[in-house]
Amino acid sequence: MKLDLSFLLDKENETTDVSVSCDVTSVSIGGTSYRKSSDEPFTLTFYNDEGKKLYVSGSTKVSFISPCDRCLEEVEIEIPVKISEEFFISNDIITCDEEEGVICIEENSLDVDCLVVNEILVNWPAKVLCKEDCKGICPVCGKNRNIEECDCDTSVMDPRMQQFQDVFKDFKEV
Ligand SMILES: [Zn+2]
Ligand SMILES: [Zn+2]
Repeated sequence: MKLDLSFLLDKENETTDVSVSCDVTSVSIGGTSYRKSSDEPFTLTFYNDEGKKLYVSGSTKVSFISPCDRCLEEVEIEIPVKISEEFFISNDIITCDEEEGVICIEENSLDVDCLVVNEILVNWPAKVLCKEDCKGICPVCGKNRNIEECDCDTSVMDPRMQQFQDVFKDFKEV
């Protein structure tokens, strides 16, 4: 959602709470699109510091659906969002530090989704697992090994094992 912040300009040294929501339906990370599964309205707290700076803070959680990195089963992941930004006020115009990265404010209108998505990207997990000990998919027969055990010989697929066998072979040739 977009939020017009003009009404905060004459609230010098006042704290103002505004209820907001994140309206994105998905995020795109590394070329993959992840569907949002849930989010809740949350509060952004603004503080107009002597008509010169505007601080905004707030926190929420947004959940997305992602495949497990090992077995590809869909998992819901909850991403914590903590917003803490500082804007500048000059001649009734609110701006952000353009060198600080993404610009989420234009003509005193704050793009709440932009703020939230930035935090989601920062906090996105490096690894998504359905459970800590997910057994993954068998590289030989393609079965989900969490559901069904298989008798495939996967030892050749293990590069460490491969190395070991090579060493053994060299040994025999001597
Ligand atoms: Zn898994
Ligand atoms: Zn198998």
